[in-house]
Amino acid sequence: MEKRQFKAESKRLLDLVINSIYSNKEIFLRELISNASDALDKMYYKALRDKDIAFNKDDFYIKVSIDKDKRTLTVEDTGIGMTEEELDTNLGTIAKSGSFAFKQDNELSDEIDIIGQFGVGFYSAFMVADQVTVISKAHGSDKAYKWESRGVDGYTIEPAERKERGTTIILKLKENREDEDYDQYLDQYRIKALIKKHSDFIRYPIKMDMVSRKPIEGKEGEYEEVVEEKIINSMVPIWRKNKNELTEEDYKNFYAEKHFGFDEPLKHIHLSVDGTLRYDAILYIPKEAPYDFYTKEYEKGLELYSSGVLIMEKCPDLLPDYFSFVKGVVDSEDLSLNISREMLQHDRQLKLMANRIKDKIKDELSKMLKNERDKYEEFFKAFGQQLKYGIYANFGVNKDELKDLLIFYSAKEEKMITLKEYVDSMPKEQENIYYATGETIERLERLPQVNFVKEKGYDVLFFTDYIDEFAIKMLHEYEGKKFKSVLSSDLELGEEKEANEDYKEIFDYMKEHLKERVKAVKGTRKLQDHPVYLTSEGELSIEMEKVLSQMPDGAHIKADKVLEVNTNHKVFEKLKDAYEKDKDKFKLLTDLLYNQALLIEGLPLEDPVEFSNNIWQLL
Ligand code: ADP
Ligand code: MG
Repeated sequence: MEKRQFKAESKRLLDLVINSIYSNKEIFLRELISNASDALDKMYYKALRDKDIAFNKDDFYIKVSIDKDKRTLTVEDTGIGMTEEELDTNLGTIAKSGSFAFKQDNELSDEIDIIGQFGVGFYSAFMVADQVTVISKAHGSDKAYKWESRGVDGYTIEPAERKERGTTIILKLKENREDEDYDQYLDQYRIKALIKKHSDFIRYPIKMDMVSRKPIEGKEGEYEEVVEEKIINSMVPIWRKNKNELTEEDYKNFYAEKHFGFDEPLKHIHLSVDGTLRYDAILYIPKEAPYDFYTKEYEKGLELYSSGVLIMEKCPDLLPDYFSFVKGVVDSEDLSLNISREMLQHDRQLKLMANRIKDKIKDELSKMLKNERDKYEEFFKAFGQQLKYGIYANFGVNKDELKDLLIFYSAKEEKMITLKEYVDSMPKEQENIYYATGETIERLERLPQVNFVKEKGYDVLFFTDYIDEFAIKMLHEYEGKKFKSVLSSDLELGEEKEANEDYKEIFDYMKEHLKERVKAVKGTRKLQDHPVYLTSEGELSIEMEKVLSQMPDGAHIKADKVLEVNTNHKVFEKLKDAYEKDKDKFKLLTDLLYNQALLIEGLPLEDPVEFSNNIWQLL
């Protein structure tokens, strides 16, 4: 028989799965049972939609058996099965997930989980087994096949016997090692506990032959072994259970079983709605953003069930974009099993559910913000950007919905605060909400304008996320207070006029020399130790210019820059001096100061060679 090789890269990946992806070996059972359940789902879905397929609910089950003598653990299902070709492609190519292809073929939306996408769940069997044998007969086929592998060195496929449709997976368990106990997977109580722990809410019965010793009737002191087939799992989907019956652990396990994320959920929300429209939902706010969350590849959506039958793996219409990080399941008795994707989009009931779900998520986040600030900050670190994006997107239609979920670093409080908290602690005479934009908090703390405003007794919010200023511009104001950048040229706060009137002639000459590079040159006294600074006039700030310059069509968009000159600084004395005695030197100094201001702002120099030449000349 020909030995087939795993497809490209697969060997290394297999090695990785076996040795490192899971620190917790026991989850192999969860993976195999989930696959069995997926296979049953696929069959169930087909059978319900096709009248020609005989349908009997009792035919759908999973069976787990232990054979101590042979050292085997077997997981059997009556699902859709695999053809020879499917055995080859689905189990021969790691990182090729057959479930993934099925979803695409059937126009179901795909699933995000990493294990699912890599298609590596099955291979976790090799963490505990030396040899894995898969015997499968596909729905609609009269031939069965056996796939067998001892791991990295390849696999074989040959014809086999199997009466009914479905799949049997036999694990030949590894021998016990000093540091690793594999015998535990031959212990029926241990297996039973694992099923309870990781797969309790699987919809299909998971059966096991439980062996017990019972006293023989009439013969005192004598026992016999009795084998009874038992259903181990509760089968009631977790979302149908009463909240009071469920523990934190149950919700966590369900999150892991569903592959909603590698992290633990930060919060779960269990909704049971019992009105004209009945549905149950379990929603999760993850702790960490998935690796592809902020990319185009990420797809939002909730699993949608109709009376316990999965009808869509990722229904996008149930979540607004700004809550796209939420994972979970929704099950309604009132949705038709045969509803198509297009129909769903316009379904009134679905819209009602989506609305309620949105409100509920917002509610929970607001509560977390109020009562569990640390947790909320953790959430915001992962997904705050998405909320800000939500404010900015679609011309701000959702801004009022979201503005109270924002938090920003406060220069005064030295921690994250809400806009409401900022406004509530404003002194009476303060008119604006001040903010500063920059790369890091440390940098912003050193900004002279920040200190200037702080010394007036006003707090400053630090915007270190590129989207912050865009979002805030969309808000425009909060409780009647306008947002004002401490880096805008008209940050006056009283004492600027004088500096300008005294030296108007000098500033006009500088502007004339700098031409279109700046919109204006003016004097200031808020710069403390800095001789010059670039600020901006109007709606578009320098920080925004930087962000836009990195976008495909944004390179030509420029802020109206204002060169502010510190009239209290020694450098200004030199400048004045040169203005009176040596105009060439004055121009040289003006160029230098302008370029220095660009550097401080983190903007590129227009002509670095000329800049260095100027410095050398001066030296
Ligand atoms: P995933 O479940 O994420 O797709 P797995 O590595 O767990 O990845 O499984 C790989 C593929 O093998 C599945 O997508 C499925 O097509 C097939 N498969 C695994 N177990 C079974 C089974 N019991 N019945 C039918 N197909 C299965
Ligand atoms: Mg799987």
